[in-house]
Amino acid sequence: MTEKLLDNINYNYHLIEERIAEAAAKVGKSREDITFLAATKTVDAEVINYAISLGLRYIGENKVQELLSKYDDYNLQNTSLQFIGHLQSNKVRQIVGKVDLIQSVDSVKLAKEISKQSAKNNICTDVLVEVNIGMEESKSGVLPENLHELLDEIKDFDNISVKGLMTIPPICDSKQKISNFFAKMNNIFIDISSKNIDNISMDILSMGMSADYYEAILSGANMVRIGSSLFGARNYNK
Ligand SMILES: *Cc1c(COP(=O)(O)O)cnc(C)c1O
Repeated sequence: MTEKLLDNINYNYHLIEERIAEAAAKVGKSREDITFLAATKTVDAEVINYAISLGLRYIGENKVQELLSKYDDYNLQNTSLQFIGHLQSNKVRQIVGKVDLIQSVDSVKLAKEISKQSAKNNICTDVLVEVNIGMEESKSGVLPENLHELLDEIKDFDNISVKGLMTIPPICDSKQKISNFFAKMNNIFIDISSKNIDNISMDILSMGMSADYYEAILSGANMVRIGSSLFGARNYNK
């Protein structure tokens, strides 16, 4: 952990804070209306803890093994640990009780397993439903056309609580194209909110990453997930 790395993170953190506040203001929101979650894959716990010392209050991991290997080292007194990656049903029991929110529910089977494992722990786990807004075959997430049916099937599971939606849009070559996907998601989010479905709340719309969080906030995101703009380019070969 070099001083240079920490200096960069300190600089990046404040820059991101400013840009989030600026984008929020453009849509009549305040800084507090937007949750800044750091995507911490490949980042060492001590570096994550440095970001936490700067004020970071939400972190998200996307691999179960990696989360477990760092779990004892995170400084989580004031910070929420969430799961943002693709989750296999057979790994659910390893993270239930450790994470405050699972952002990647995209099947009845997965929701059922989270509810079952939460029941064993006498807790209720908050979840987001992940939507495959670009309808890409390679991506996880429920297709928009199947979202209502999924919500209908999972809304009565006792030990999960649906808090909103998450998406990872396709890679786009223009801000306009990505903004169209964000706008589509926001429309779905608003539509579901307006239906006031029992046990389903639409509090969180999680979209936008390093390259496009500003546009995502302009299109209605109230949670952004930022990795490389905070920590620098990822090194997968450590
Ligand atoms: C890695 C990751 C991010 C952040 O990606 P960056 O482009 O580095 O900001 C956001 N969401 C998920 C689900 C991720 O896995």
